[in-house]
Amino acid sequence: MNIILLAPPAAGKGTMAELLVEKYGLKQLSTGDLLRAVLKKDDDEAKQLKEKMNSGQLISDDYIISLVKEELSSGNEKGYIFDGFPRTITQAVELEKILSNLNQKIDKVLYITVSKDISLKRTIGRRVCPNCKKVYNIYFNKPKNENICDNCQNELIRRDDDTEEVFLKRYDTYLNDTLPLIKYYEDKGLLEEVENIDKQETFTQISKILEEI
Ligand code: AMP
Repeated sequence: MNIILLAPPAAGKGTMAELLVEKYGLKQLSTGDLLRAVLKKDDDEAKQLKEKMNSGQLISDDYIISLVKEELSSGNEKGYIFDGFPRTITQAVELEKILSNLNQKIDKVLYITVSKDISLKRTIGRRVCPNCKKVYNIYFNKPKNENICDNCQNELIRRDDDTEEVFLKRYDTYLNDTLPLIKYYEDKGLLEEVENIDKQETFTQISKILEEI
């Protein structure tokens, strides 16, 4: 089973992906995480990527597709959850080609909706554990001790691009480049919309959709 999570910035894609990994044994493929791994190299390539990401722009389709191809080459029996990919029509077309070469297809596209205000609060309130990657939010999902990971006691960090200024740019990029994917997948009969108000309720709804595949 291959699932795409499509949503505005900080709508809860990462959290839903985590739950899907646990329940269905799917492998999460987050292009944002793959890019952040490249940033750690701190070379010229990393600097260029960082500049683009911190200005709310998309990374080129060619670069993203090569990252995805490499990641998919390791394979996963039960399938993938694509988190934050595709973000453009070009990426969507390429993904279909890659999957078809592997005799696979997209089974469902989950369009997770949330208001712009909540998206903003989730962005500026997001804190991440640099060690175990657990995600918290100072408004909605606080750690037990301020700024400390419940799992591994590491100090939480804020992503460089989780500021209000970058959020507004990322949101515009989402409206311009990613929103056309809604119609694209609707036309293919693959789209299911789920409003993300409450984490458990949203996950229950998603599970029902997936159990009908
Ligand atoms: P995310 O972690 O998904 O919010 O992504 C963080 C940033 O990485 C985005 O704002 C983009 O600059 C870049 N990025 C992530 N995924 C993609 C993608 N599929 N296509 C282009 N840029 C991406």
